[in-house]
Amino acid sequence: MNQPVQPPVFEVGRIRADFPLLGTTVNGKPLVYLDNAATTQKPRAVIAALVRYYETINANVHRGVHTLSQRATDEFEDARETVRGFLNAASPREIVFTRGATEAINLVAQSYGRTFLRAGDEVLIGEAEHHANIVPWQQLRDSHGTVLQVAPINDAGELDLAAFTKLLSPRTKLVAIGQVSNALGTVNPVAEIIRMAHAQGARVLVDGAQSVGHGPVDVAALDCDFFVFSGHKVFAPTGIGVLYAKAELLEAMPPWQGGGDMIRTVTFEHTQWNDLPWKFEAGTPDIAGGIGLKAALDYLAGLDFTAAARHEHDLLHYATTRAAEIAGLRIIGTAKDKVAVLSFVVAGVNAQDLGVLLDSQGVAIRTGHHCAMPVMTHFGVAGTARASFAFYNTREDVDRFFAALAKALEILA
Ligand code: PLP
Repeated sequence: MNQPVQPPVFEVGRIRADFPLLGTTVNGKPLVYLDNAATTQKPRAVIAALVRYYETINANVHRGVHTLSQRATDEFEDARETVRGFLNAASPREIVFTRGATEAINLVAQSYGRTFLRAGDEVLIGEAEHHANIVPWQQLRDSHGTVLQVAPINDAGELDLAAFTKLLSPRTKLVAIGQVSNALGTVNPVAEIIRMAHAQGARVLVDGAQSVGHGPVDVAALDCDFFVFSGHKVFAPTGIGVLYAKAELLEAMPPWQGGGDMIRTVTFEHTQWNDLPWKFEAGTPDIAGGIGLKAALDYLAGLDFTAAARHEHDLLHYATTRAAEIAGLRIIGTAKDKVAVLSFVVAGVNAQDLGVLLDSQGVAIRTGHHCAMPVMTHFGVAGTARASFAFYNTREDVDRFFAALAKALEILA
């Protein structure tokens, strides 16, 4: 008789052992780290890659003929190839290293926006965007006369697709949309959004800052024009991030910063730009960060990402069920399609106070507006408390979180 096929067990205990900080204490209590949407912890493999780089390689890239410089260059460019594979981009020429998602969006706004958008052209974003995907488009509007359109969300925190469709028109030249909302956890239907935008002739930038840590991304299948993310949200160091863009766009775009590395020749009369992607990488890059990012992506490649996502969904479901037991707790963001983010307010309780009291019990959550003030305005709150999970969290973490929350609420009552 055929045995039913069991899904692979996700061995969270073994995975936690790879993340040294998870085994530490904070304020005398074992750490429960639930601020993964802000930044993720780093596996030993990433930390080791940074130490190995500084202990055995450290040299500048693209500049020296000496052995260390060549090794640093080879490893940095190898990291670019790993990012290409991670995103399924066609070529490493399409992978520009930046400081993070914020810098990557600013690069697109400054270079693509100022060159290809005209006064009156529309940039369409969503109401739940992170400030990093709002402010650069406002700056472009203010300096350049473009129009900023905002597609609303509904009260579950989902993008109102009907309203989005209405706002989309031949005047829309660029759609900039988060794949996952950091404040709410909502997953946006970006494939559908890209199809609709392309049908109107608009380019699409996908902000993948909150999606890359929760599942595979395929820019070729999505057919997005730009995709940005930050290394530190995907278990890599801070200071390194990525702009993916179709090569034809990068070819046509002017550099946004000038300096070393982005040039081929310089005279006082004229400068010739370097090839892709270095045309967009003026100055010494975060070499160790790039190498650390490769180590993080290699680490993820060794995980069963589908099982990890299933585990995270189990945590979200469990946490959501437990949240319903708390009097006065209101979840902010109840989209049907969500990653493991539990944003909430408790009637009569200041989120900041909750955060401080949870911290005293070793539980790290984020409180405030989460760099998404328009979302707070939509829901009529000043801020929320947010527990955000990664695949290394456990049901015990959820239990400790709710125990700490109950205690905090008792103190604040
Ligand atoms: N976009 C989203 C959805 C984010 O959550 C964040 C950071 O929280 C950013 C952009 C900006 O990322 P960074 O600060 O790493 O540049």
